[in-house]
Amino acid sequence: MKPMEFPLLFDKCPLCGCKKRVLESVGGEEMKKGKVGKDMIFSTTQPIALALVDPRKTVISALTLTVFRDICVDCGHEYVVCIRHKVLPWPPQASQQGGMQQILQQLEKTPPGG
Ligand SMILES: [Zn+2]
Repeated sequence: MKPMEFPLLFDKCPLCGCKKRVLESVGGEEMKKGKVGKDMIFSTTQPIALALVDPRKTVISALTLTVFRDICVDCGHEYVVCIRHKVLPWPPQASQQGGMQQILQQLEKTPPGG
């Protein structure tokens, strides 16, 4: 096992080994047209930042992971292509009243992908 280095990149399909991906291919065309930035990573699901926090502890920053998924052109398998990590101030809305509980409630209300 090599040491983990972020961003974690998975450049081929875990099932068939194909390196071509649907969103990356289509998105690449848009990059050529200049419609999207070259550093854009497309994902089949809204990339959600997962905060690695312990709600019982008070912290001022949290490590968050953002997971991107794409679809194999060859076999249609959807898999994780990139995981980025970033340290963000925590909680994200510390200045607001209500604190952690409110943030958790907001997270629960947010529909997946929206
Ligand atoms: Zn595949």
